[in-house]
Amino acid sequence: MIGVLGGTFDPIHFGHLRLAQELADGLKLAEVRLVPAGLPWHRGPPGATPEHRLEMARLGGAGNPLFRLDDREVRRNAPGYTVDTLSELRRELGATQPLCLLLGSDAFAGLHTWSRWKEIFGLAHLVVVARPGSGLDGLQLNPELRAEFDHRQTDDKDELRREANGKIILHPYFPLDISATRIRRLLKAGLSPRYLLPDSVIDYIHTHQIYL
Ligand code: ATP
Repeated sequence: MIGVLGGTFDPIHFGHLRLAQELADGLKLAEVRLVPAGLPWHRGPPGATPEHRLEMARLGGAGNPLFRLDDREVRRNAPGYTVDTLSELRRELGATQPLCLLLGSDAFAGLHTWSRWKEIFGLAHLVVVARPGSGLDGLQLNPELRAEFDHRQTDDKDELRREANGKIILHPYFPLDISATRIRRLLKAGLSPRYLLPDSVIDYIHTHQIYL
């Protein structure tokens, strides 16, 4: 069973890396694909170029044999949709290998705005963790997304292995209140973002004068 963590990674930080590690451990994932978005369609332009965000993700995940950097969205060089990435992965992995899309609760709550979002359930399971400030209990869901959630939700991790796609599970996660927005703000203000992201990524940011 393979996990996929997509994101703008502008820059990658310990919130992303802990999410990937905890879900890899909790679900016994064989690997987690880190997929930096090329040109995100759903938000303003990132502070760093796709190439820099890819390189920072490479540095952030370096040394962890469970993580594998996947550069397909950056290579595509056009606004990429998660559904297209998952279709490609599904083709590569075959029809039966369970695939888990890993998401913070903020991302999940916006799922109904994603391109062809319902097709995602035909390609992968969704594994959702509560993010600080966006808990799961009071999660306001669009009615169509709520209906999908009620229909697909399971508490049983084993169910994810029995099928290749289509389930939603809320998974425990020790919350880390870290966001890329906060890191960019600190850097802009000339303050240190140390201990929020790997030193190797901070060094890269300084060397290439990103976010300053
Ligand atoms: P920004 O502040 O620029 O919006 P971000 O920190 O939210 O960025 P993204 O690259 O947009 O990071 O997030 C990618 C994925 O990682 C999303 O599913 C998001 O919910 C999740 N995520 C990001 N930070 C955390 C965190 N601290 N804890 C749990 N999940 C997180």
